Amino acid sequence: MTLSSAAPVGTAAVSTQLREPSTRDEIYVAGQWRQGSGAVIESVDPATGDVFATLHSATPGDVGTAVEGGLAAAAQSKWADQLPHERAAVLYRIGNAIDAHATEISALQTRNTGKTLTETRALASSAAATFRYIAAALETMEDEITPARGNYLSMSIHEPIGVIGAITPWNSPIASEAQKVAPALAAGNAVVSKPPVWAPWISLYLARLCDEAGLPRGLFSVLPGPGRTVGDALARHPKIGKITFTGGTSTGRTLGHVAADKIIPVTLELGGKSPTVVFADADMDQALAGVLYGIFSSSGQSCIAGSRVFIERAVYSEFVDRLVSAANELRVGPGTDPGTQVAPLITHSHRDHVASMVDEARSEGAVVLAGGYAPGGDLADGAYYRPTILAGLSNSARICQEEVFGPVAVVLPFEDEDDLVRQANDSVFGLAAGIWTGDYRKAWRTARRIDAGTVWINTYKQFSISTPFSGTKESGLGTEKGRDGIRSYMRQKSIYLDLSGQPIPWSR
Ligand code: NAD
Repeated sequence: MTLSSAAPVGTAAVSTQLREPSTRDEIYVAGQWRQGSGAVIESVDPATGDVFATLHSATPGDVGTAVEGGLAAAAQSKWADQLPHERAAVLYRIGNAIDAHATEISALQTRNTGKTLTETRALASSAAATFRYIAAALETMEDEITPARGNYLSMSIHEPIGVIGAITPWNSPIASEAQKVAPALAAGNAVVSKPPVWAPWISLYLARLCDEAGLPRGLFSVLPGPGRTVGDALARHPKIGKITFTGGTSTGRTLGHVAADKIIPVTLELGGKSPTVVFADADMDQALAGVLYGIFSSSGQSCIAGSRVFIERAVYSEFVDRLVSAANELRVGPGTDPGTQVAPLITHSHRDHVASMVDEARSEGAVVLAGGYAPGGDLADGAYYRPTILAGLSNSARICQEEVFGPVAVVLPFEDEDDLVRQANDSVFGLAAGIWTGDYRKAWRTARRIDAGTVWINTYKQFSISTPFSGTKESGLGTEKGRDGIRSYMRQKSIYLDLSGQPIPWSR
């Protein structure tokens, strides 16, 4: 399907035929829907343990087809030469298509990842908003005429890179993809996406919505499959001009090496072990609600989970007592139940990994104040784990230094601001932090002193697509979101245009 330059913007342009998100056994390679020839992925509903779909994955051989197909589609549709408002019109329609199908997207995503419907609905809305924001940013992006030092016009312009390899994790499908795919397409590139084995369906559905919205076929391929084969082949393909990755720090490090070998740009959004700080002068009700949400929403499977809770000594006992009571009252259940606060984890094996980290912390002397076990009864078949609070450890314990990616918080006392900053920054990560205090000067000082890409003050886990997101230290490299997000998928070029009409004097 090619892009009509006068394509209208709005839901009216989106067909409503595509009602049900498909779990057809098909991958999307260079504009063709077809069965993959790789190993079969079994998708299991984490709430029940039942297999609900199977998918033949892509193979490394599909990578070349997708990359060449992306280049051909870009050339044929003149995607990079479309005027910004023309590309933006397609992006608006993709955003509107996501919104129009948000209920179905949310239901499928809850089935695939276990997340609550409230959360998956929010992820769909966020993805739709990302496409629309990026479209608006694209329409208003400007190149620069730079101050000249001679009789010429000097300009700094931006051009697409070519084909982008986008590799994403399982914890927030559609939102993570949108964060990469929207700006990469906006910039005039083709995109080959490698979604995670545990959650491939929504990425494939996004490709169907892109088709519906009039994105030239072949410009966006989706190759679900194992990271070590398909992901690796994608990153290493000689015609991939940029790698954009969200996932764990060790995978990010591997991809950083690949990018270095190829001398191509890379964006890495990686893991975290974020401190949440409760000062004695905080509004305790507000802090309690924020700390609970920060660690236990998404069942703790969030890069920015506030997993190290630092509490000022003067209120430590009181706050921990309240936190433990509140954690014990959290409702664990299936994501489809509107009353559920803590849904199952992504898979049973991931739940077992979380449980093993808690067991190891126990053997290192952790006191389990809440949770620390998988619930039985009606929930026995699902990948559930009770919200867990550990105490009695120092910040150097393994569970305080390594990401658990589950509903596990460690509570740690601190004496004063200096002690807090020292402990909070004693981590290889630097993704996010939360500060709860009634003193805005203290909040400002602490926010400036903590190593983190994002700091929330008296709130947590709030996001705006217009606000840049990045990690420091081993939490990442490069920035996503914000107006400059599109630029990160472009290369800069300088052009000097003579205005004199005279030969350069030297040659005379
Ligand atoms: P992961 O690193 O195991 O996998 C992420 C993606 O990389 C998957 O698609 C996987 O198949 C692929 N992959 C794995 N090995 C690869 C290789 N050698 N070459 C190419 N691709 C490869 O991470 P995960 O378990 O899927 O996700 C959880 C992690 O993601 C956590 O560490 C979390 O903190 C992080 N995360 C970070 C952010 C952020 O914005 N900073 C957001 C969400 C998740």
